[in-house]
Amino acid sequence: MNLTVASVGEIIWVLGIVAWYFIRRPYERRAKRVRVVSDRRSGSEKVGLAAALLGLAIVPGFYVATGIPETADYPAQPWAVALGALIFATAMWVFRKTHKELGRNWSISLEIRDKHELISRGPYALVRHPMYTSFLLMGVGQAFLLSNWVIGLAGLVGFAVLFFLRVDKEERMMLEIFGAQYRTYMARTKRIIPYLY
Ligand code: SAH
Repeated sequence: MNLTVASVGEIIWVLGIVAWYFIRRPYERRAKRVRVVSDRRSGSEKVGLAAALLGLAIVPGFYVATGIPETADYPAQPWAVALGALIFATAMWVFRKTHKELGRNWSISLEIRDKHELISRGPYALVRHPMYTSFLLMGVGQAFLLSNWVIGLAGLVGFAVLFFLRVDKEERMMLEIFGAQYRTYMARTKRIIPYLY
């Protein structure tokens, strides 16, 4: 078998997505058992989730399986694949940490659960949306792992659509539920990039 640099990048990306799935699965199962007291899922929420799923999983998955769109391929560089692997691994490390900290408060969407607790430790001490930080890192990792201009951008576009459709609503929801506690928390944290944004 002739393993090219590009296919190494593709294999690492697939392994990363498998890790993403297994990190998330137990929380998704548990979430079904915790009562939701406020559900803010809306049309734009669905669009955001679909965009993220498309850009970060379905479109690159289709590319890995079929090589389409081949015309947007560029030569893969070993340094780029190594950097992409490092960034994707960091994304999964952050993703796992956010799930551990959120625990029973976890939701795929905007929801407030029974006895919802405001988490502000671990990665939540640095930024308010570390799970979205991990999606951003996944997008950057994807761009370095898959040597195709369209596929490289797809993840970042998907992330941006989800993030910008959701973040204001999520913060408004948290303010409504936690009031001054969330306001103080907002005053000492950034959104997704520690100390910057
Ligand atoms: N925006 C967060 C969480 C994403 S999961 C992040 O990026 O890490 C979405 C759910 O998490 C929302 O339904 C909300 O109820 C919950 N949530 C968001 N921030 C939280 C926090 N600091 N503590 C507890 N729950 C939180």
